[in-house]
Amino acid sequence: MMMPMGRNGDGGMRYLVLSDIHANVTALDAVLGAAEGRWQQAICLGDLVGYGPDPNEVIERVRSIGAVTIRGNHDKAVTSATDPDDFNPIARSAVVWTRAQLRPENRGYLEQLPKGPLPADNFFMVHGALHDEDEYVFTPAQAFEGLLDAPAKVVFFGHTHIQGGFALRGDEVGVLHFKPTGGNPFSTLAMEPNIGYLLNPGSIGQPRDGDARAALAAEPAAFFWALAGCGNRRHQASGVKTPEEGRRPAAGLKPRPSVLHHCSAFS
Ligand code: ZN
Repeated sequence: MMMPMGRNGDGGMRYLVLSDIHANVTALDAVLGAAEGRWQQAICLGDLVGYGPDPNEVIERVRSIGAVTIRGNHDKAVTSATDPDDFNPIARSAVVWTRAQLRPENRGYLEQLPKGPLPADNFFMVHGALHDEDEYVFTPAQAFEGLLDAPAKVVFFGHTHIQGGFALRGDEVGVLHFKPTGGNPFSTLAMEPNIGYLLNPGSIGQPRDGDARAALAAEPAAFFWALAGCGNRRHQASGVKTPEEGRRPAAGLKPRPSVLHHCSAFS
């Protein structure tokens, strides 16, 4: 399936790259606000639901912005008839809870989401790894195989909830970090020709890279790696409630801010 893409005057469509929203509409709205006016086409790398309290609202928001979306492992688990026995207990209880909350039309939307890899304009979209949507790519060694086999110079992936990625030059893989600093919410990656990129925009709803701000990316004329300020201390200081404070208890899910600082123990 090839997604239809238009072109703008300077020869490139500018994409908003979303991933791992995890039913956190507060964070998604913060991201959409931060990215306003910077993109023409949204894409989403999966995991619209799971963990957070707003599965219906997130699905409706993603649909309303016309995002081209692939499924994540949580989307698959929620629409499956079987118990997700490879999920940790928190993820599994979120699956059960989400199944009960989903409106039929939203469940139907999740069910029809294609599995990655999905070819896009000049890049590919995957949730986990190119050869396995459920596999995590954390290390250069894990990235190496995928990059060698990649059908495009740029592949966007999610699943790890860690913003950054990998670059393949010759047979060497480098690790890319994106940390906007100095009060600037955006940082830029200058793309080089003849380099293969595996890029993760980070998680909107449940970051696991030690930075609780919701993460996104926009490509390609410049890649914007943004941290939209949802759920971090700065945001709290401005009087906006974090999902943990304001939403999860009301929706019956226990707050678990500590997951923000763990990288590998969660599905
Ligand atoms: Zn996820």
